[in-house]
Amino acid sequence: MKRKQLATQHFIDQIRAGNRFALSQAITLTESRLEADQRKAKEIIEALLPSTGHSIRVGITGVPGVGKSTLIDQFGVYLIRQQQRVAVLSIDPSSQKSKGSILGDKTRMSQLSALPQAYIRPTATGSHLGGVAQQTRETILLCEAAGYNIIIVETVGVGQSETMVRNMTDFFLLLMLAGAGDELQGMKRGIMEMADALAINKADGSNLTAAQQAQQDYQQALHLFPPVQNKLNPKVFTCSALENRGLEEIWVFIQQFIQQAKKTHYFSKQRQEQQLGWLHELINLQLSQNFFQHATIKHQLPSLEQAVIQGEMTAREAAERLLKAFNT
Ligand code: GDP
Repeated sequence: MKRKQLATQHFIDQIRAGNRFALSQAITLTESRLEADQRKAKEIIEALLPSTGHSIRVGITGVPGVGKSTLIDQFGVYLIRQQQRVAVLSIDPSSQKSKGSILGDKTRMSQLSALPQAYIRPTATGSHLGGVAQQTRETILLCEAAGYNIIIVETVGVGQSETMVRNMTDFFLLLMLAGAGDELQGMKRGIMEMADALAINKADGSNLTAAQQAQQDYQQALHLFPPVQNKLNPKVFTCSALENRGLEEIWVFIQQFIQQAKKTHYFSKQRQEQQLGWLHELINLQLSQNFFQHATIKHQLPSLEQAVIQGEMTAREAAERLLKAFNT
């Protein structure tokens, strides 16, 4: 018991001191399925809570190949030159299924990963989205406690991961390419509505004119969305991650956005809402875990599933029976 407490305290002190090894170990604890690890992670995070929350949390999304890692690499180096400390957390939902991660390439962000003021961590794989959300949120807190004041949460633009990242960040940047078909743009509408800024990347070489045209088109499209309150209206940028152009303008906008959001209390309100959302998510997650691990449910579920598949029973009836069995 005493040893365990000592170890926990050691973690807490080392993370506060900015020890990256201790930080990595603590993040691994949050990803562990062992109950003892989970408990320890919880104790560490609770103790560190007063040292969290002081960062700017920036979500970045875009389809594979749009230039996320190139941009974050350059952007991160730029921010570090501005005396910031940058943590990058990458979420790749596809890696849960295939284990072959789109974000897993070791050569990604090579300049940034060489800097001691940067911390880069891909998210755990093999977990469901709810689990990934939980781990990423805890990782954000741990990174903040370790002194990182810009937290970039990156996700591949597929599936529900954008909403998840939107719900844990203060500012959401959508990276796009010029010349994407109408169909793709239609698909992006929901994500565009979540974005605080759009950046048309690869605005260089023969692509420059098309990127500038896309900037105008998207800015026009954003005007059709209802005006926002208490925060700056979303803005469209062009940039070239490869040539390191346009990134400073984006950073200036992020700072203006955060400043305005703090002034109107939008910033704290959004964080509070995110906390509440997290609480409800955790309750749902725990309840559903308890449900599916319940002995009676495990026993009854396969046959009821079959009955629903065969059309012998409605899904509603099966759910009611199972919930009744769970609650008695
Ligand atoms: P990710 O999958 O979104 O992380 O995209 P990457 O950063 O890996 O970039 C995909 C490809 O696009 C790479 O070959 C990059 O060199 C290239 N790329 C990234 N940004 C730019 C850019 O601004 N201009 C041009 N021309 N190419 C870029």
